[in-house]
Amino acid sequence: MLDWAPLLSVVGLPGVWRPMVEIGWYKGFTVRAGGLQLIFDPESSSAVGGGSHVFVSHAHADHVAGLRSRAQKYSTAETRNIFEGLNGRTALNFHEVRFKEPVRIGEVEVTPINAGHMLGSAQFLISTPNLTILYTGDINCIDTLTTRNAENIECDILVMEATYGDPTFIFPSREETYADVVNWTINQVKKGLTPVFDVYAAGKAQELVRLFNLYTNLTVATDSKVAKVNRAYSESGLRLNYEESDLGEMDGEFVYLTAQPNLPSRGRYVRALATGWALKMGSRRTAAFPLSSHADFNQLVKFVKGCGAKVVYTFTGYTATFTDFIERKLGLRSRPLPALSQRTLYDFH
Ligand SMILES: [Zn+2]
Repeated sequence: MLDWAPLLSVVGLPGVWRPMVEIGWYKGFTVRAGGLQLIFDPESSSAVGGGSHVFVSHAHADHVAGLRSRAQKYSTAETRNIFEGLNGRTALNFHEVRFKEPVRIGEVEVTPINAGHMLGSAQFLISTPNLTILYTGDINCIDTLTTRNAENIECDILVMEATYGDPTFIFPSREETYADVVNWTINQVKKGLTPVFDVYAAGKAQELVRLFNLYTNLTVATDSKVAKVNRAYSESGLRLNYEESDLGEMDGEFVYLTAQPNLPSRGRYVRALATGWALKMGSRRTAAFPLSSHADFNQLVKFVKGCGAKVVYTFTGYTATFTDFIERKLGLRSRPLPALSQRTLYDFH
């Protein structure tokens, strides 16, 4: 039975005693074991020493800094392709990983698991001789038009995102939201207006392109940034029909997807958002649909139960609310992920 006492050997006592495994937040989620330092989704490239091993869970901008670092780097091919397409640069010292195929580094094994968040998104199961630790990155636990649900596997320690870890975030069914988006879009076009969706270039944009391809006859146009990611999706086998164009150059009836903020919103254009935060928005000027790439509260709770972990660390979003819920309602040990502050030799390589 894992409890807080043995967890001291996990979190560690800096300068006092060298534990077998340390985990915590140090520039990103960090595991130190067997003389190795593994950093997952580091927040900046310059902060990562060449002696570390860097794992990148998915291609969203706030997760890919590690692909610019000098360290040995690991991600799925899809994540690397989207990163390289958007940034016009090659990830060096790169090792491609595949779902369910463990990578061995010293005495540690890291296995990528589908995260359901966007194309190529991975959770990582870290297996040391004593413990299994699951780092979720960003997860979504239901099927979408472009992704399969995050796989729920067992582990000793769960390190999970809590973006929507508050009971007020319960999303309607995907089908219902898809229908609302399609109906609203068609109605705007019927009124002679042009719907313009403000989207993340990677993930949500491609899900919307696919939605409009499958359920409308509308022309879908995207800006060049979204188109770069569309190409990576198409190369992976998910066919998307769209035109790449500036908004002002388009004529006729169409729906437009853009990752550029501050495009003109007057005249015949009508704006829309697709995000889980739509549940909290009340704007009359912008339509907002609760279409999220993240698990909602109920999905997160179900995921925790499915992992069978005795200890759950949380990061991102409603960490305090969610850890409190896990302790009181699920009877598990839970804390926001603690900081690992000390530097190591790996930072100076
Ligand atoms: Zn993400």
